[in-house]
Amino acid sequence: MFEKIALVGIGLIGSSLARVIRREGLARHVAISTRSAATLARAQELGLGSSYSSDAKEAVRDADLVIVSVPVGSSGAVAEEIAPALKQGAILTDVGSTKASVIAQMQPYVPDGVHFIPGHPLAGTEKSGPDAGFADLFDNRWCIFTPLPDTNPEALERLSEFWRRCGANIDTMDPQHHDMTLAIVSHLPHIIAYNIVGTADDLQSVTKSEVIKYSASGFRDFTRLAASDPTMWRDVCLHNKDAILEMLARFSEDLASLQRAIRWGDGEKLFDLFTRTRAVRRSIIEAGQDIDVPDFGRQAVEHPAKA
Ligand code: NAP
Repeated sequence: MFEKIALVGIGLIGSSLARVIRREGLARHVAISTRSAATLARAQELGLGSSYSSDAKEAVRDADLVIVSVPVGSSGAVAEEIAPALKQGAILTDVGSTKASVIAQMQPYVPDGVHFIPGHPLAGTEKSGPDAGFADLFDNRWCIFTPLPDTNPEALERLSEFWRRCGANIDTMDPQHHDMTLAIVSHLPHIIAYNIVGTADDLQSVTKSEVIKYSASGFRDFTRLAASDPTMWRDVCLHNKDAILEMLARFSEDLASLQRAIRWGDGEKLFDLFTRTRAVRRSIIEAGQDIDVPDFGRQAVEHPAKA
């Protein structure tokens, strides 16, 4: 599909892209760039690309497609660095978990004649780094684009086709809507998980060994989310602040209502809520976004967090 693709950032997402690009033959040349010598050397050992450089400018030169896969707080600095080397007509995209902030950071540096199309694949695991990626990470997952008002439709279609060939389904929405939606489906669950695991870790009356020993009772499912990359999630919290605070406020109100129902023994209210939430789980399975097997829908296979 492309003569040369440049991957700036080669962690979980970048290396998954590298693997699927190779498997599907989507580019003749894949140039890989990352800031640290250790990650670059590992990407080279894994044979993820055709060329390797710690200089992102070098990697993006002559590339038809440039994909930035770094923590969202670093996207502006990366855009500033690569901008002078971007080829006229190239497509520049990213995979960041927040969109309004990434656009505000990157857009000012995008040269005229380069098609900047912000994107976000809704696929991931709690692992990070080039070893963590796998080629079918994006299979049947959504990739959301938040095109800008002047986005070239042909470039958008070309990028959409690229992601479809990587296994993803495509959707487009405006950046604010993306950030609000992701705040509830992804950011809040992670924050709740970080919080509950932190609370359990602080408990004095229950020993840590008991928390671990009896974790399969529910706690364990939160620990997977709470093991996610601290840099990535720090940046998500700082760069989707308003939407996250809005969802946290709603969450706190609903939690207070649940607390009241428990205090006053309002079993009907509890039963109704738990019935409604069970139906949500069923809809997710019907939509093919999880599988209906025990162990919270995760398979004990190579990529346990994929499901
Ligand atoms: P990752 O595995 O931790 O890899 C991060 C990559 O970014 C590495 O190549 C790292 O380079 C580089 N990097 C880190 N800090 C940087 C900085 N300050 N300046 C320049 N480069 C830097 O991360 P990931 O999970 O692939 O996430 C990458 C992006 O994808 C993030 O924006 C995240 O929001 C988004 N995303 C993640 C998921 C997920 O579940 N993980 C899902 C969808 C989208 P070195 O190793 O060389 O330092």
